[in-house]
Amino acid sequence: MWYFTPEEKALRDVCLDFANKELAPVAEKHDTEETFNLEAFKKMGELGILGITADPEYGGAGLGATAATIVMEEFGKVCPGTTLSYLAHSMLCVNNIEANASAEQKEKYLPKLVTGEHIGAMAISEPGHGSDAMGMQCKAKKDGDHYIINGNKMWITNAQYADIVYLYTRTGEARKDLTTFIVETKNTPGFSVSKEIHKMGMRSSPTGELSFENARVPALNRVGEEGDSTYHMMRNLEIERLTISGISLGIAQACVDQCIKYANEREQFGKPLAEFQMIQKMVAEMASETEMMRHFLYNLCYLWDKGDVSNTAAAMAKLQLPKMATKIALDAIQLHGGYGYSREFPVERLMRDNKLNEIGAGTNEVMIMIIAKNLLSQR
Ligand SMILES: Cc1cc2nc3c(=O)[nH]c(=O)nc-3n(C[C@H](O)[C@H](O)[C@H](O)COP(=O)(O)OP(=O)(O)OC[C@H]3O[C@@H](n4cnc5c(N)ncnc54)[C@H](O)[C@@H]3O)c2cc1C
Repeated sequence: MWYFTPEEKALRDVCLDFANKELAPVAEKHDTEETFNLEAFKKMGELGILGITADPEYGGAGLGATAATIVMEEFGKVCPGTTLSYLAHSMLCVNNIEANASAEQKEKYLPKLVTGEHIGAMAISEPGHGSDAMGMQCKAKKDGDHYIINGNKMWITNAQYADIVYLYTRTGEARKDLTTFIVETKNTPGFSVSKEIHKMGMRSSPTGELSFENARVPALNRVGEEGDSTYHMMRNLEIERLTISGISLGIAQACVDQCIKYANEREQFGKPLAEFQMIQKMVAEMASETEMMRHFLYNLCYLWDKGDVSNTAAAMAKLQLPKMATKIALDAIQLHGGYGYSREFPVERLMRDNKLNEIGAGTNEVMIMIIAKNLLSQR
């Protein structure tokens, strides 16, 4: 176990209770039907976690990476898909506005995002530019007191439900000439959700492609100055990578719990699976790996909350936790035999869901590039 303060324990208990009541009973259904649990999402607003890192002045909880990761872990144990949508809203949209927008923009947009009246998304990736995000081609051109935006954004979590999109665009020829806008989807002519994307996992989290065709966005909605957004992107990355790793921690823990239960219930050769040494080894390995993941991740969250976490360390967590959770989820399927491969137990869904965490918010290969570049440039 990791040491949590009494406040963090209380948050964990509230999230555990919410996850068991609002997410667990319908997680399988939303996965099968590829539907979004909008009802639970709105209730998260009442719980006070939709703006977990936002300033209390705008209705937020004013907390940090540890608190946000606690939510991800507890929700991730039962419904990683809904958790991913929560992450896109709270970390990718709300936290970006909190970290980068002006006081006027925060006052205008945060209160409704924090209550859940509005749903948020964040758009960097494009059909032709994923890992090479800085090569993005969605262009914004100044036209009086507006900008005209043209281009497409791909793989956008919450696309179909988003009221607000935190949008990255190109405003110049140099790679670093990136500029962000807060786009009100309902009041932006030329904006549309051009495609719904069907996925292997995270199926209760809606994903779509966004199109901007001569979309007019007020210059007042530009975040910072033109060309500021490389800095905006970097500023949010550490907490994004820590919190998405929190979903993988939840998935790994859920697999361990499910395996302990199943190994004691299922009998073969006249005794429970738990009495076979190979099964004992599997459970011991996956449980100890999960504990290592927990300690590494919450230690980094603690450091982030103290303002002392490096880009390298966050990339290390984002590289290792999702990768380890995929291995643990595959072992959990193995331990369940044929039942593990069927839809009767949650382990196959947890494995499908976790695979996304090795891709989204920067792939494993991109994390390796960041870590290696940072370390090998030290002399
Ligand atoms: C379900 C889901 C939700 C998402 N949500 C969002 C969202 O809300 N907002 C958003 O902006 N984006 C989102 N993404 C996009 C995600 O961040 C990208 O998919 C990811 O960055 C990878 O980009 P890509 O898919 O274009 O793959 P590519 O960049 O084309 O990569 C393909 C493969 O090549 C590897 N590769 C690429 N470059 C190198 C290199 N230099 N060296 C070695 N290997 C390399 C990659 O690691 C990968 O294995 C989401 C994606 C998914 C699947």
